[in-house]
Formats: sequence, C-alpha cells, structure tokens
Amino acid sequence: MEYSVTPIGIIHSPYQEKFGIPRQPDLAPSAPVSLRLLPPFNQPDCVRGLEAFSHVWLTFLFHDTLARGWQPLVRPPRLGGNSKVGVFASRATHRPNGLGLSLVALQGIDLQDGVTLHLRGADLLDGTPVLDIKPYIPFVEAKPEARSGFVDGPPPRLTVQWQQQARAQLQGWPHAPVWLATLIDEVLAQDPRPAYQDDPERRYGIRLADFNIAFSVTGTQANVLEITQLTQN
Ligand code: SAH
Repeated sequence: MEYSVTPIGIIHSPYQEKFGIPRQPDLAPSAPVSLRLLPPFNQPDCVRGLEAFSHVWLTFLFHDTLARGWQPLVRPPRLGGNSKVGVFASRATHRPNGLGLSLVALQGIDLQDGVTLHLRGADLLDGTPVLDIKPYIPFVEAKPEARSGFVDGPPPRLTVQWQQQARAQLQGWPHAPVWLATLIDEVLAQDPRPAYQDDPERRYGIRLADFNIAFSVTGTQANVLEITQLTQN
C-alpha cells in the first residue's frame, strides 16, 4: 500500500542546521519560529477558530535526514549515546516515514498575506515541511501521571558564560536580532554536544540565523567564545 501526503506549510526558524537545535520543543523558548501555510491551505478559513488554542501539535517531516533511512535500534542522547532502545521507543529522527511530532505554543496568527502562524519554542530546522496542525486538547492529552521510561525529566543544563569579546561582538552589530543573546543562552544551556564528547579544548560552532556562535564546554559550563556574522545571500 502506498499513500502520499502533501506539506501544508513550511517552517521558518533561526536553526539553519541540525546541530544546536534543542532535542525537544520548549527548551529554547526565545527562538522566533513561524509556519507559513502553502496554497491551497493558506486561506483564513483553514485556521478559523485556531486562535482560541494556546498550543498546537505539528506533524512534520524530518526532511533533512530522510535519505539516511532508519534502524530498528537507536541510541538516544539521554542514555549517553551508549544504550540502545527500539526506534519506536524513541523520538529519534531516523525512523520509518521520518515523521516528527512537536507540541508548540501558538502566539498568534497573521492573515495579512496568506496565513502565517507564530510559534514559540519549536525544535524545527528552517525549511521543515509541516504535514498537519492540530489543536492541543489538555483534558484528553495532558497526562501528568504518565511514566516516561528513560526520559524521566528535563535534561541537565549547563551554565553559560560569555567571554567579554563575544558579548562585545554581539553588541557591535546594530542589526543583531534582540532575541539572539537569550537564544544563545538557551541553546547552549541544553548542551548540544554529541553525547560521547567531553573535550574542554574542543571548539564548536552553531549557526543561529545568520550568525555563527563559537563555544567550548568545560565541566558543566558552556563558554561563548566568539560570534561572527555570516554574509547573507
Ligand atoms: N519533537 C519532535 C522532534 C524530536 S527530535 C519529535 O518528538 O518528533 C529533535 C531533533 O530533530 C532536533 O534536535 C533537530 O536536530 C532535529 N530536526 C528538527 N527539524 C528537522 C528536520 N526538518 N529534519 C531533520 N531533523 C530535524
């Protein structure tokens, strides 16, 4: 049996590459993310009443990793990258059909030019195709008593320390987005490093919007080393 699905919209987010994107929604609430609906879904009728909901489920395609297929067993970062669980016991991106599911806050709906949803805390790559939107219904879907296997709470956070040079660099750009400094704090606090790496000498780079953020991690502290603006094309 084969079925086909069609994207109903495309995500616009500061996350230009997978590295650095929080591993679940809401861990970096400062990221300004929007979902622009595509024709023929970009008509006000399709979202009538949705503004009354504070949160929505997004079903989307892990389009950036689809080509890499899937494996029955995966190594979740929460298990230190060592232990394996079944793909269906994980939220891994490499899965049959490559479908993702995120619960995100709906901040507003813009009907000026087509339909754009403003979202908060989405863990989505820029350009992600969205397949469906559904309102979140807490009385059915919120289950505070639920067991959650190896994911027994939020991941440990790093403290984030800015080197003076990095702070000065960011302040030097008159057009740096106002949310950028907070987003850097939120993203680095999540410890974006791959689970098996712990080398204080190592310098990492994360791309947020058109900025590259260089950082290192010493113990439980992330150090913001340098911020460079990438040329926009
Ligand atoms: N909340 C979702 C996503 C969890 S995985 C779910 O449970 O299904 C989160 C990771 O997906 C992020 O860290 C990011 O690296 C990755 N990701 C986000 N958008 C993606 C895309 N379009 N293609 C591939 N990977 C993506």
